[in-house]
Amino acid sequence: MLPVDYCVNVLEGLYEMASWTSERYVRLWDYEVELKIEFSPELEEIESRCCGFNCFMYYCLRTEHVYNAFYERFDHGFVLVENEDFQRNGFDGHDCSGCRHKDPLFLLVNHNRFHSPENQRKKMASLRLERELFKFYDDNAMTQKTIRDRNIVIDKIHGMVENSRSCPPNFKVEFFGSTRTRLASDSSDLDLAIVIPQNINADRETLKRLKDMRDSIYNMHFLASKLREMGMTNVEAIQGARVPICKFVDPETGLHCDLNAASALGVENSQLIDEYRKLDTRVGPFLYALKYFVKQRDINDNQRGTLSSYAYCLLGIYYLMNHDHDSPIIPNLHNFKSNGDECPGYGCKIGIRNHVVENQQVRYHDCIEVISDSKYQIKKEKRRQGSVRTQWDGFCLDDLGKIMLDFFKWASKIENLTTHISIRYSGMDIPNVPDKWFKKSMVIQDPFILSKNVASSCSELGLNRILAEFQRAAHLLEETDMTFVDMCNSRSALGSYSQLSRTAVEVPFRVDKPRNKKNKNRFRHRMQQNNNQNMGGNFNNHTNDEYISFH
Ligand SMILES: [Zn+2]
Ligand SMILES: [Zn+2]
Ligand SMILES: [Zn+2]
Repeated sequence: MLPVDYCVNVLEGLYEMASWTSERYVRLWDYEVELKIEFSPELEEIESRCCGFNCFMYYCLRTEHVYNAFYERFDHGFVLVENEDFQRNGFDGHDCSGCRHKDPLFLLVNHNRFHSPENQRKKMASLRLERELFKFYDDNAMTQKTIRDRNIVIDKIHGMVENSRSCPPNFKVEFFGSTRTRLASDSSDLDLAIVIPQNINADRETLKRLKDMRDSIYNMHFLASKLREMGMTNVEAIQGARVPICKFVDPETGLHCDLNAASALGVENSQLIDEYRKLDTRVGPFLYALKYFVKQRDINDNQRGTLSSYAYCLLGIYYLMNHDHDSPIIPNLHNFKSNGDECPGYGCKIGIRNHVVENQQVRYHDCIEVISDSKYQIKKEKRRQGSVRTQWDGFCLDDLGKIMLDFFKWASKIENLTTHISIRYSGMDIPNVPDKWFKKSMVIQDPFILSKNVASSCSELGLNRILAEFQRAAHLLEETDMTFVDMCNSRSALGSYSQLSRTAVEVPFRVDKPRNKKNKNRFRHRMQQNNNQNMGGNFNNHTNDEYISFH
């Protein structure tokens, strides 16, 4: 995290320059020139962080805890006047109608803009929501007992496969789905996969042959008979499904289970989500709340025109990567340029060029070491002495309540949900976009099967229902004192719901489809910035349109 003191020290230069002038302002660009005249360690430091000078300044100037520290030290507030748009509309409560400056401008004012009664009220509300969401996750996500129960079942299945005559060597029984992502509740189904390394890359023909063999674990009827033998109840073999599974109930723990022998990628998907969850304490409660919300609001059914839980998880992760341009909550682990150390590729999935699961490349950093002191980040102990890990120092300190509310607002806008969403290529253009994606209501790219749209189940009607529900949530959380759980369950707001729903239905006909490639991904500029840095290009190439707010 960027130390607050460091930011305020850099702002001190701005403060001094501004306080010398009678109009109490300084142009940001003048200050940068000033810094550049002489070699300054500050400038060097700034340019190695974020994506250059402007990004750093914008971070400092817009970040509440930096602002408050500044106010405390200098007894002065400031506004950042960015461009003509802000002259018209003002910035955070400061009326800029009289301002005549066009450049990004640092202007001293004599009040603390974060201390207005309106801001205080918002802050209290979002902190209340944050407390609720953390508690909701702690109280309802898997308890120690159910983790024990789940391990009991996995051991039984492992023993069963091992003892069957056709047991392949080196097989593993793995959790996947919500048990692996740690987003399960005690009552969630248990998803289990038998993973066999040497058959992982087997072609379809081989798998089909194995499926038809009488005593192969790929044959669900064979698995079912084995499960019955060991005393499992309600055993049901579903051989014809795209992924054949066996359903059963373990009588000892009461857990409802799905077992299959063809979900090596399902295991990888879940593992990836879990890697993100482990980077920051806000991720788990955020995704858990989102899953709960979509379930309660009945927009979580890929058989009926809306989305699967997996699709919502990817949507949520994508949002967290892009919540704040200059300080994302989580990085893109598939394509991460660290400001600190970076792993050399050994002992990390990013380095395994031939790590192919079900014919798909599985490459991302699973080696992240969190180095910031942010209260939201989870420090992991070093894995091994001497091994270099990729360092991540996220410095977004927005509270979870604000993030949740901002997410609902973002997801209320059709142009955001209809952009091609990809956590694999977040911040970049998606290469080789299949033509059929342009006809889809929603596109969420699978992080490993790159031609797969996990939102392909979403119908136009479904999209409108999803938008209406997100609008309703944003409205109720912002305008009323309703708790999150009440918001999810209340029917009292149905009146405004149908009203919102009608609005949402009309919207698709008004929205222009993105005309050129550049608009397809709103966050690609970060990638361009990285390229510039790699090529040693200069940093001062932000244009105004890069600062179009994410929200
Ligand atoms: Zn930037
Ligand atoms: Zn002004
Ligand atoms: Zn790595």
